[in-house]
Amino acid sequence: MRATFTHSMDVMLFSGSDFTLKLLNWFDEHSAALPWRGADAYRVWLSEVMLQQTQIATVIPYYERFTAAYPTVEALAAAPLDDVLKLWEGLGYYSRARHLHHTAQAVAAMGGFPQTVEGLMQLKGIGRYTAGAIASIAFGVRAPVLDGNVTRVLARLYDINDDVTQRSTQARLWSLAESLVPAERAGDYNQALMQLGQLVCVPVSPRCAECPVQAHCRAHANGTQSQRPVKPHKGATPHYDVAAGLIRDAAGRLLIAQRKADGLLGGLWEFPGGKQEPNETLPQTLQRELREELAIEVEVGELFGVVRHAFTHFKITLHAFECRYLGPTPPYDAPQAIDCQQWAWVTEAELDRYAFGKADRQIIAALQARRGMLL
Ligand code: SF4
Repeated sequence: MRATFTHSMDVMLFSGSDFTLKLLNWFDEHSAALPWRGADAYRVWLSEVMLQQTQIATVIPYYERFTAAYPTVEALAAAPLDDVLKLWEGLGYYSRARHLHHTAQAVAAMGGFPQTVEGLMQLKGIGRYTAGAIASIAFGVRAPVLDGNVTRVLARLYDINDDVTQRSTQARLWSLAESLVPAERAGDYNQALMQLGQLVCVPVSPRCAECPVQAHCRAHANGTQSQRPVKPHKGATPHYDVAAGLIRDAAGRLLIAQRKADGLLGGLWEFPGGKQEPNETLPQTLQRELREELAIEVEVGELFGVVRHAFTHFKITLHAFECRYLGPTPPYDAPQAIDCQQWAWVTEAELDRYAFGKADRQIIAALQARRGMLL
């Protein structure tokens, strides 16, 4: 039967120095040679900001260029923001560079970094994790860190069966992290725990056989490593059925429309149509959408093709129908660009001159393949 641990028992499990010693010995032998190891507060802070949402291998050359150009926080503070942004180019999330510059000026004005977690957290862009990293690594303060790697390691060590994104679980994890930090070598201990998460206690298939603290790991003992940490289930990706018209006039030309500039696929051209509403057949969807978007009437014919496409947050199945153009919806005497920027009648050969999204491009490829067969 799996044990449930209260917080006081959590602490008892790891009391004594056995766990800390094993971890620090492992770190002493396997410490990754990163350029910010053993660095001062400025460099620890710089590396932590650069590592947010960015891989170590990507960060290293930026870190080296940055510290060569601005070897001190005062040098960074005195630099023009445009130069800082230029040096940051390619690293992404540019607000980080702006905050970095702003905070460098604040730190330079106060004569250096505060040496406490509370003092560091007063600075813009420095949260509890970064403050703990700077305080422990640069100043030897007995302060905990809790990032994604440490969360995973602790959730496994204690076999925590609660959602780690919940506030109460976060509080428990911070409390555990705090209770574990040794008075000596707090910075090395924190870096060891983070490195253990990066290299050994990895998200998928943790390398328990190589783990220096395996004997202390509840999840390993219970065989639950792959189920920890517990995270909320992602909701199913929404899916939409979309009907599009290959609308032909008497000359066989196709009607295409340009999407509005703002929003998804803004400015691209498309075969007009739209999302199916509840209780609608796809031909009904198409007729309704074409009235709303272009004020036109069509006769919906055969299904020409079906394309499945995934966007970042949803998926679509695009059903493309052959359609015969019947004319503008009364009282209009021509199609109207109601829900698009403009429209055009084009031959199949002319389609390549226009920019389309990926799903429509597949329809065009199928049209061109059919045309090639017919020629
Ligand atoms: Fe992670 Fe396995 Fe080590 Fe436990 S024994 S801390 S699951 S690597």
